[in-house]
Amino acid sequence: MRALSFHGAGDLRLEELPAPEPKAGWVRLRPLATGVCGTDAHIVRGEFPAPAPVVLGHEIAGTVDAVGAGVKHLREGDLATVQPNTFCGLCRHCRLGRQHLCAAMRAFGVHLNGGFAEAMAVSAGEVYRLPPGAGPRLGCLTEPLACSIHGMDRLAVRSGSTVLVLGAGLVGLMLTRLARLAGAGWIAVSEPDAERRADAVAFGADATANPRAAGWKDSLPAEGFDFVIDAAGSAETFETAVSLAARGGRILVFGAAPEKAAASIRPYEVFSKELTILGSLINPNTHERAVSLLPQMGLEKLRILAFPLGRFQEAFAAQTAGTAATKVEILPQE
Ligand SMILES: [Zn+2]
Ligand SMILES: [Zn+2]
Repeated sequence: MRALSFHGAGDLRLEELPAPEPKAGWVRLRPLATGVCGTDAHIVRGEFPAPAPVVLGHEIAGTVDAVGAGVKHLREGDLATVQPNTFCGLCRHCRLGRQHLCAAMRAFGVHLNGGFAEAMAVSAGEVYRLPPGAGPRLGCLTEPLACSIHGMDRLAVRSGSTVLVLGAGLVGLMLTRLARLAGAGWIAVSEPDAERRADAVAFGADATANPRAAGWKDSLPAEGFDFVIDAAGSAETFETAVSLAARGGRILVFGAAPEKAAASIRPYEVFSKELTILGSLINPNTHERAVSLLPQMGLEKLRILAFPLGRFQEAFAAQTAGTAATKVEILPQE
């Protein structure tokens, strides 16, 4: 089978590997669409640790191709998506029910061979059947949706409240839609790219603003927002989130800023406005709900750019360029 393997920083190779056989409790999947995520690009640039060689791709939808002994909930031919993260089960976080904080977390497509391949083996417990009508191109977005649902759990938006989303990339759009579904009263989205601002309106924003325009904050409510979501992930957007949060506001740090980025905020502002600042990491027990919610998300409105496996270099370049599409995917069977 053809597979896209990471062999070290800057060294991504399309190569021929033996197709894996599913052991007991595992299945073999034929990935039909696998999303190219910022994490994949970080790994290839050597900015995120991954063991080499490993087949990348952790946002996966495909067909169950072979079922190992003892697997009851899946059959050959099922269209399914993968929850990519596995945990040690033994550390303090795992035993407290906070598996997503496990320091020994290993993910398919990061540490274990993933979905940029014509076939992959995966433990059957991590495989979820897609709902009727959901094809693989939207199905592979279940993983970022599951992460977004965890963010919404953390934020706990109240009906009728005001929400500001910073950034209208894929997760910014998902979080905008989730805020709308959660009953938000008024949602504003800030985003420098005009096409992405139009996407934000399509996903439920009541107003958009361009943070590169002079005096852009003047168009927003002076009292600030009850809930602010940093879906961009930078020191600058974090500072903006603090400054635009209302008294009693809750801030969700969702986008991953560069590891060394440092922001400048005044502790007095956090104290005097009684702010709550929340992180959100991956998808603890949210993949099941992401599968259920997939048909309600309006994801068919996304601008998806898909490339056959052999054109992976173009796919990674499009992901890095960012604005040509809201999502870049690789189609491993093409
Ligand atoms: Zn990802
Ligand atoms: Zn653990």
